Amino acid sequence: MYDAIVIGGGPAGATAAIYLQRFKKNVLLIMKDSGALGKTAHIDNYYGFVETITGPELLEKGINQAKRLGVEVIKDEVLGIDNFPDFNVKTINGEYQSKTVLLATGKNQVNLRVKGFNDFIGKGISYCAICDGFIYRNKKIGLVGNKEFMLEELEVLKNFSEDITIFTNGMDLSVELHDEKIVTEKITEIKGDEKINQVVTENSEFDVDVLFIAIGSPSASDFALRMGAFLDKNNIVVDESFMTNIPGLFAAGDCIGGLLQIVKATSDGAHAAIAMNKYLKNN
Ligand SMILES: Cc1cc2nc3c(=O)[nH]c(=O)nc-3n(C[C@H](O)[C@H](O)[C@H](O)COP(=O)(O)OP(=O)(O)OC[C@H]3O[C@@H](n4cnc5c(N)ncnc54)[C@H](O)[C@@H]3O)c2cc1C
Repeated sequence: MYDAIVIGGGPAGATAAIYLQRFKKNVLLIMKDSGALGKTAHIDNYYGFVETITGPELLEKGINQAKRLGVEVIKDEVLGIDNFPDFNVKTINGEYQSKTVLLATGKNQVNLRVKGFNDFIGKGISYCAICDGFIYRNKKIGLVGNKEFMLEELEVLKNFSEDITIFTNGMDLSVELHDEKIVTEKITEIKGDEKINQVVTENSEFDVDVLFIAIGSPSASDFALRMGAFLDKNNIVVDESFMTNIPGLFAAGDCIGGLLQIVKATSDGAHAAIAMNKYLKNN
């Protein structure tokens, strides 16, 4: 059992892990890739770097610093979190238990850039099978995704309907499926009236009552939605101690919104770690 699991190895997550480790907490940091820093070629506005530093270089320094101080770092993708009674963090390769969890997974843009998509968010387009699946029992369900995250959502949706079509939206399917209906063509349009009723692909049209989105990896807001943590416009809502409405679940960095910059992400990470340390003392 860890004291803290930090999900995300960017500036927010790595800073939090460093602070927690220095509070002598037993910390596991899980990261799937290089996050926003991996896409950043030049950083010129972060304190202390006289010359330009690249995002991947800064990321490597942060992770190496955390490791040097004793943080356990693993490369894996978190698929889900349960919180009864402690937190159970499920990844592609294992499960880990902890007294607290910090969500520091950055911003994740999961919208489909196709005609009609934005019109039906909340009107038959859903980001959470466990939240909305029941509403669509025995209905025609569409599910967009091609990886483990999609598989997780599919398992939930199978409890509610047998009529499920998976849309990979032009991507290769990277998980094994057997009897499911799979459409690999790109989605070109979402149609409907008051609510969604059709997914249009390059050469066909499919009637649906709902379209669930599980593209790529689950983001902090996906975890928050499933756990019942409050969101405001896709940002996780935290209090002044960076805790969500779920005791022991904290969030920091780009996933809580505000200034989307490294300096703010590191500050969030430090504040969250201090609050987590207090929480661990008191509970
Ligand atoms: C192109 C570009 C240029 C930028 N330039 C600057 C700049 O010059 N200066 C500046 O201050 N800021 C810049 N930014 C913004 C800055 O990169 C972000 O504000 C900062 O990285 C946010 O830190 P974070 O820790 O919140 O998230 P991120 O750095 O995005 O880290 C997120 C972490 O979460 C992990 N993760 C996500 N989902 C999962 C999952 N399901 N399981 C496990 N791990 C997961 C990722 O692997 C990653 O390690 C730029 C951003 C971009 C995209």
